[in-house]
Amino acid sequence: MSGHRVHLIGSDAWVDVAVGETVLHAARRQDRALPYSCLSGRCGSCRGHLIAGVVSYPYNPPDALSPDELEAGEVLLCQAVPQGDLEVAIREVDAVRGIPLRQLDLIVTQMTQLADDVIGLYLRPADGQPLAYLAGQYLDVLLTSGRRRAFSIANAPRVDGIIELHVRRVAGGGFTEQVFSALGVGDCLRVEAPLGTFVPRAGSDRPMLLVAGGTGFAPIKAIIEHLQKQPPSRKVRLYWGARLATDLYLEHTVAEWTRDHEWFSYQAVLSDAASDDPAHRSGLVHEAVLADHPDLASFDLYMSGPPALIDAGRHAFVDAGLPTDRLYYDSFDFAPDVLAAMIRARGRQGQRVD
Ligand SMILES: Cc1cc2nc3c(=O)[nH]c(=O)nc-3n(C[C@H](O)[C@H](O)[C@H](O)COP(=O)(O)OP(=O)(O)OC[C@H]3O[C@@H](n4cnc5c(N)ncnc54)[C@H](O)[C@@H]3O)c2cc1C
Repeated sequence: MSGHRVHLIGSDAWVDVAVGETVLHAARRQDRALPYSCLSGRCGSCRGHLIAGVVSYPYNPPDALSPDELEAGEVLLCQAVPQGDLEVAIREVDAVRGIPLRQLDLIVTQMTQLADDVIGLYLRPADGQPLAYLAGQYLDVLLTSGRRRAFSIANAPRVDGIIELHVRRVAGGGFTEQVFSALGVGDCLRVEAPLGTFVPRAGSDRPMLLVAGGTGFAPIKAIIEHLQKQPPSRKVRLYWGARLATDLYLEHTVAEWTRDHEWFSYQAVLSDAASDDPAHRSGLVHEAVLADHPDLASFDLYMSGPPALIDAGRHAFVDAGLPTDRLYYDSFDFAPDVLAAMIRARGRQGQRVD
């Protein structure tokens, strides 16, 4: 037999992994629902614990794990290639299993400037078939030469099939510069979707903390829209961090949620603006969460946004008592092709990619 077998403890399932294939890639091929986000080895969403066997990392290094964590048997399944049969402890995300992965064309029906550097894209499936997905998932825009860029879907599924994206302009960015300079209504984007496991977990009555950085608001907005359809019996509190108040691009929508739902509350946190307005606190958003909730043991916490926020939050929140299996996140990391180029450059220069 070529390849290896991986036993997923928790779901008691087996995955056949081809030679040179990562565990996550094989698991997705076989409709297993392992958690993942950046697919680059940097965010740690796909972290599991290796009970038996040996893995190698021939593609990207497992940057999300410290040397101590690697030593203790932690593995990153989006990069880990088995060197023999494995036993891995990891919990699957049952909710996303069975939703078909599609490639489809989306037509731009509307473009709205939400902030100086954020455009809202409103897209409809060209074939009229609404995409099946869960609130919080993302899509990949398929570019030339096999490159792809991930964008969170910013709305819960709608009967008319409209999909909303919040695209932040990245200086020198291969795709987002095009969105700001060349994309127009009527244009078509080829996408693959749905992707990701950043979806609300059912069956918990613990209060939810939602933490967004910048356009990390997009999947959080989708999740809140989903919750509005089945109002939760638990409290939901959103912390939205940005540099300036003008970056909080849909705050009027958040104000409506606050007004309409007693279960929902909101705190804005600005990193680059001094403020004595309690509605817009100053500082870093994860520090504001910790200042308000020094003990996170009784919460479920969902966060999305730039890698620096995710990296800071996933350490600080766990240090404050949040169990790791109640911390869910999407890290808006570099696309794999960009990261690979950066890693090659790092290899030449002997520097870290941060
Ligand atoms: C799960 C997920 C969800 C996401 N959701 C969103 C979202 O909702 N909204 C959003 O705005 N973004 C989101 N992102 C980020 C998004 O996927 C893109 O990474 C981002 O938009 C930049 O894409 P780009 O093509 O414009 O820039 P890229 O071409 O990826 O370039 C990014 C930066 O790297 C630099 N760069 C490129 N190549 C190199 C190189 N070889 N060496 C050094 N530097 C280089 C560029 O100059 C630029 O500054 C998400 C990411 C993930 C993983």
